[in-house]
Amino acid sequence: MNADVFVAWFEEAARLVRRDRERLTQLDAAIGDADHGTNLDRGLTEVRAALAGSPPETPAQVLALAGATLIRRIGGASGPLYGSVFRQMGKSLESPVTLAGFAAAFESGVVALERLGKAALGDKTMVDALAPASRALALAVRDGVGVREAFEQAAKAAEEGAKATIPMQARKGRASYLGERSIGHEDPGAASAALFMAALAAVVT
Ligand code: ADP
Ligand code: MG
Ligand code: MG
Repeated sequence: MNADVFVAWFEEAARLVRRDRERLTQLDAAIGDADHGTNLDRGLTEVRAALAGSPPETPAQVLALAGATLIRRIGGASGPLYGSVFRQMGKSLESPVTLAGFAAAFESGVVALERLGKAALGDKTMVDALAPASRALALAVRDGVGVREAFEQAAKAAEEGAKATIPMQARKGRASYLGERSIGHEDPGAASAALFMAALAAVVT
């Protein structure tokens, strides 16, 4: 996996978020402040511009630039949270990037997210999609699964994790202010996290 694959990841994520912008915003309208789709769409548009402006040479540099841009450009909670995932991944990732190296760096990104957001599995946040994806990658490495299949399994785990937030009561972020009324809606950040993993599966061959 070279820098081009990581650039393609963010381009595909930007495309999927643009496609699903209204759905993400509607999810946030139900349990938040109706801006998640626009927040992420704007942030990823900025990421694409930053990557095009000065194309990084290594995967770690792509992640660092994307992370810093998301932190700077998204006003909502999701900017610093996603930004910290990618920044930490960039710090952990060594070249050349192997599946095992990617899985380990991704896990460290999720740990950074959990630390920053003080969120754990079951709190109805993006962690509920990203942590299962991370676990799926770790299992794929353990089982010696091919790269393409590994990312497909991670995408599936993220999608299932996002859907699993529907019956949860939110314990972090704006949705937590709703208490029991947050039950019955998919978490917008978990839904967008599933798009990030779908984008990855789409660009990794
Ligand atoms: P805001 O809530 O500031 O408007 P967004 O709407 O862009 O920001 O993002 C909301 C999403 O951010 C939530 O759906 C949730 O997945 C995620 N989130 C919010 N707070 C936390 C947290 N403390 N830890 C992890 N994820 C969080
Ligand atoms: Mg919001
Ligand atoms: Mg907001």
